[in-house]
Amino acid sequence: MIIEPMIRNNICMNAHPEGCELHVQQQIDYVRSKGAIPGPKRVLVIGGSAGYGLATRIVAAFGAGAGSICVAFEREPSAKRAGSAGWYTATAFDERARAAGLVAETIFADAFAHETRRYTIERIRELLGSVDLVVYSLASGLRIDPDTGEQYRSVLKPLGKTYSNTTVDPMTGELSQVEIEPATEEEAAATEKVMGGEDWQLWIRALEAADVLAEGSMTVAYSYIGPELTRPVYREGTIGRAKDHLEQTARDLDALMKPRGGRAFVSVNKALVTRASAVIPVVPLYLGILYQIMKQRGLHEGCIEQMYRLFAERLYSGTEPEVDEQGRIRLDDWEMREDVQAEVNRIWPTVNASNLNQVADFEGYRQEFLQLHGFGYPQIDYSKEI
Ligand code: NAD
Repeated sequence: MIIEPMIRNNICMNAHPEGCELHVQQQIDYVRSKGAIPGPKRVLVIGGSAGYGLATRIVAAFGAGAGSICVAFEREPSAKRAGSAGWYTATAFDERARAAGLVAETIFADAFAHETRRYTIERIRELLGSVDLVVYSLASGLRIDPDTGEQYRSVLKPLGKTYSNTTVDPMTGELSQVEIEPATEEEAAATEKVMGGEDWQLWIRALEAADVLAEGSMTVAYSYIGPELTRPVYREGTIGRAKDHLEQTARDLDALMKPRGGRAFVSVNKALVTRASAVIPVVPLYLGILYQIMKQRGLHEGCIEQMYRLFAERLYSGTEPEVDEQGRIRLDDWEMREDVQAEVNRIWPTVNASNLNQVADFEGYRQEFLQLHGFGYPQIDYSKEI
């Protein structure tokens, strides 16, 4: 078949296997070019097939020489239909890590299910014995409670009052005004159920009960804060409430792990184009402007640069990681720099259809978005049968 990108509502419905392999290979090459770093040796990444989770796994394996198991929810290819990007990237990672002599296995299953936890623990025992780093990097719109079977859906809405702002369709460059009605209490609670810390806690408790958390092991989950502009719909909206819960969970887990010499952290990462962030209203316009400013100042990073910095300068730097007043590791330090945010605030109200491509880097945005799915690589001939 010939595979070309099929994009609907900022979601890319398909993926190109060769391009996905290249996406992984380029990240491996980056880590290798930076050189070996101290780090974990046996890692579990929950949500490790894409975005931040995949980059973390690549840094752990090709930077620190770690064996790894990943849990991800992806679609397998069939004779009629291409698989999802994460299926190809996770598989490409496993092949390359094994070729480098490392343990690597991806479990394609629902991370929220108890059965997945049981099976993962079995594989940890068989392949790694125990783990010394557990990374929680899930981004999901749906969770089925493993005890009650009830379904919860996360929503991206403000709390309390309607939010309106300018948004852009990053694929067409079309600007429009969005108005988002506030969430109901039920929607806010459901979002916390999906994207809060409950499932992370279940994982850590299950791993501890099974005695597969090594002495001195660490766990880390990812959060986001972001600018004033998106505050009502992000940090003070439903997803922000879920992130508050995730961050509280980090403090609870830290207390649980400390007596065994371990630690639990939340790392607040930079805003980046990933499958998850492309569907958050207003965020693509912010990303386009932010990319332009950070690139001009030589501060731009992708997932892999962020995760390399997390390992080399925070988690495994040899000293206690620097944290903010709420105990969070801050990798959004460059994004949130005063001069960067002042420039975002200066540009934002001036954006219009005719200057969009001068003040915002949508070419860069689109290229990154396509490459997450294996498209947009000039070295690949997309007209070829695959
Ligand atoms: P992503 O969409 O690129 O990856 C999500 C991962 O979760 C994939 O591996 C997917 O397979 C997995 N997943 C989803 N549902 C699953 C399920 N039911 N069972 C098993 N695996 C499942 O997402 P991302 O942007 O890398 O986000 C990861 C984390 O980083 C999230 O907590 C997000 O809030 C946070 N974060 C993202 C950004 C950003 O700008 N993208 C910034 C800061 C923090």
